[in-house]
Amino acid sequence: MSADLVQTITGFDLWHLRLPVTSRRDHGIGAVEGSCEIVVLRLTAEGGAEGWGEASPWSVFTGSPEASFAALHRYIRPHVLGRRVGERAAIMVDAARAVAHCTEAKAALETALLDLAGRIAGVPVWALMGGRCREAIPLSVSLANPDFDADLALLERLRADGIRIVKLKTGFAGHDFDLMRLERLATGYPEFSVRVDYNQGLGPEEALARVRDVAGFAPDFIEQPVAAHHFALMARIRDAIEVPLLADESVFGPEDMARAIAEGICDGVSVKIMKSGGLSRAQSVARMAAAAGLTAYGGDMFEAGLAHLAGAHMIAATPEIGLGCEFYQARYYLSEDILATPFPVMDGAVRVPDGPGLGAIPDPERLARFAIATAGTA
Ligand code: MG
Repeated sequence: MSADLVQTITGFDLWHLRLPVTSRRDHGIGAVEGSCEIVVLRLTAEGGAEGWGEASPWSVFTGSPEASFAALHRYIRPHVLGRRVGERAAIMVDAARAVAHCTEAKAALETALLDLAGRIAGVPVWALMGGRCREAIPLSVSLANPDFDADLALLERLRADGIRIVKLKTGFAGHDFDLMRLERLATGYPEFSVRVDYNQGLGPEEALARVRDVAGFAPDFIEQPVAAHHFALMARIRDAIEVPLLADESVFGPEDMARAIAEGICDGVSVKIMKSGGLSRAQSVARMAAAAGLTAYGGDMFEAGLAHLAGAHMIAATPEIGLGCEFYQARYYLSEDILATPFPVMDGAVRVPDGPGLGAIPDPERLARFAIATAGTA
């Protein structure tokens, strides 16, 4: 352990933020409109260095911002203050025991611990996660606007920006609407790779027939057509189609991945630090998938740039995640991101930062402006 990493953590500050968004977005399990909410954590070491992390919950998927805030403020904070910066693994074990679930809060904690250690040691987070295997991560942008004309306008912007992957959100407004949009993408935008994500939107009575129709368009993959707990139905659909089937809501952490592999429910998995409860556990999910011959995709929640950075550093150090990422919200969905410098996207790919820690910090003015609750060490 570097001598600098023996210094203790003396500050633990939280912001619950409400971030305005540019449009409504519909998914199989629910909609987002007006704003999305995140929790930002700042750790301070005794020498004055700071480390930042973000919890990005969605109430219908992983949990609520109130739960993330309470998990960090009430249950996790006592296991962090006074501990040494270099004790990351031990702190994460204690946090896991202190409060069940609340995976987004644990992702924020591990992100902040890594950012803090990286800034003190003068190395990027990817160096602390095993070293870098890629400098750029192909970016996928999701199409989920119930107003498809608005998504067509977004597609023109994406094309001009060099983005070449889109993920069509399906199963929220009828099968004909989904087939119409797939047809328009195939004929009008052939340069885009298309992926499909149902977000659990189909019932058991209709799922197989509808997924077969969509598979006829030969998308890169079809993601989570049915409810998270319908493992047997996922396995049946997987066996019935040629297109790879991805699990998202069915697989949060390594424990779910083990069951998904044993029951043969998918050809690949969407890996998210907000589901797994941190960057290290996300790497474990990807490695388990790869060992079983499955692919992995870098998914996300409704995140701001801080969580995007954490995911980008994790993927940069995880060769098993080969299907790109979807860290698009900071640039293409939030009215304003929270980072002081723009989240790095160029030529259709996320550029992995080289600076110490995560490589960027939140803008204090925006933290103050978007905060609806705060809690501090004092
Ligand atoms: Mg998904």
